[in-house]
Amino acid sequence: MTLSSLAHEHFGITLTDAQATAFDTYARLLVEWNARMNLTAITDPEGITVRHFLDSLSVAQHVPMAAGARLIDVGTGGGFPGLPLKILRPDLHVTLMEATGKKLTFLQQVCEETGIRDGIEFLHARAEDAGHMPGQRAAYDIVIARAVARLPVLLEYLLPLAKVGGLAVAMKGTTAHDEADAARRAMNKLGGQLDGIDEIALPGVAEPHFLVRVKKAAPSPAAYPRKPGTPSNNPL
Ligand code: SAM
Repeated sequence: MTLSSLAHEHFGITLTDAQATAFDTYARLLVEWNARMNLTAITDPEGITVRHFLDSLSVAQHVPMAAGARLIDVGTGGGFPGLPLKILRPDLHVTLMEATGKKLTFLQQVCEETGIRDGIEFLHARAEDAGHMPGQRAAYDIVIARAVARLPVLLEYLLPLAKVGGLAVAMKGTTAHDEADAARRAMNKLGGQLDGIDEIALPGVAEPHFLVRVKKAAPSPAAYPRKPGTPSNNPL
């Protein structure tokens, strides 16, 4: 099955021919660059289609994204989920943030070859630093991450970047509910409120995925995020 047919069948998402071609180019470059650097353990065509592209696109079904909304993907790695969402929704302003610079070089190449020029930003930074940068702190409607850290740590990366009224979204596996329970203290401290947990079924994938949505209800105190390494060494 193609990405277009899977996206349509499972998530009601219609891709144009140009978007489908952009995903083909992205998949080809991911495999080529992965031979030289560590971007992903998933390199078979079906895995890339389902576990990277479709998983990323599934966010669009559960997270409201207004026209022109600002979204940042924290620890984007090979671009997931931020770059598939930008291909789907060219109107979004998407920032791809990553601590490892060469991964951003790959993502710039994908954007170059797929013709994505407007409304995309590449931010070489750690989340703990970006959360204090003017133009980044409290600047986003949607702050999202997949496979970066456990939720009590991750929320310290994500919530300071969200506008009050915006959403932090964590893409999680089967530990989602336990992590949300463990993160209650962090949520309270950082101005977050649990908004909901959505279950996502991917075709051919046995274990469900979850989107943990946390609303930014109040500003995060200026002390957060703490300096690099502290959130993971000493979670809230
Ligand atoms: N989000 C991608 C995905 O789901 O395929 C990549 C996941 S990878 C396991 C985690 C990525 O987060 C790595 O590329 C790592 O460099 C980045 N990362 C980890 N901690 C970070 C931090 N504090 N700030 C920015 N990036 C970070």
